[in-house]
Amino acid sequence: MSQVIVLDATGQRLSPCSPQKAHQLLAQGRARLVSEDPFTIQLPYAVALRPVPAAPTEEKPGEGKRLLLHICCGPCSTYSIQRLRGLGFEVTGLWYNPNIHPFAEHERRRECMQAYATEIALPMIWEAYEMPAYFRAVAGHETFGERCSICYRLRLERTAQIAQQQGFDAFTTTLLISPYQQQDLIRHIGEELASQYGVSFYFENLRRGWSERGHMAREHGMYQQRYCGCIYSEWEAALKSAK
Ligand code: SF4
Repeated sequence: MSQVIVLDATGQRLSPCSPQKAHQLLAQGRARLVSEDPFTIQLPYAVALRPVPAAPTEEKPGEGKRLLLHICCGPCSTYSIQRLRGLGFEVTGLWYNPNIHPFAEHERRRECMQAYATEIALPMIWEAYEMPAYFRAVAGHETFGERCSICYRLRLERTAQIAQQQGFDAFTTTLLISPYQQQDLIRHIGEELASQYGVSFYFENLRRGWSERGHMAREHGMYQQRYCGCIYSEWEAALKSAK
């Protein structure tokens, strides 16, 4: 059975515990539930961990580089932008998500991102909504995994094209932060497109910021979606919760 993520009061990640232990702490009021999937609990006190020796001054691989960041939604952009800016990149966001259905849901997520971009002074490129492009691309490949690979490529290819046309040094995507996405596959597709378009793909395991992403999204009162994006994922999420 998988381990439970345990956070202290400051959001610091501690050693995981078993689901039995987590349920016991919740029942005794000694922890609060943060999320059911992934199962995460939070203790009401801060824990001082053994200090980690000071790291040498962190390298700034992005110093002087313009990065085009494909953004899948506002919540996933929070930590990702903070981290990439911290690495020295001059970040521009790109909104291109024909995989989000229905249109009202797309608009809700886009408006959430628009408000956040304004708040943090993030330059944005807004691509038109092309729902038919998504359905044409995945037709005949609708199973989970197979359609996702096509969906990643569709969005990343547009990002690589724009990065090339507008002279960016590199491109990447906020999809790299989500534990629900196939990070290895995203990296593979990103690197393939990088050599095709002659623009670097910046890879980093942004998942380490997943819990911080949750804090930041709540702090900014962002809309948090309940399914990945496409109508198939909405259907799968509904079936899962019905079970
Ligand atoms: S589940 Fe998510 S990644 Fe997969 S096809 Fe649907 S929107 Fe794209």
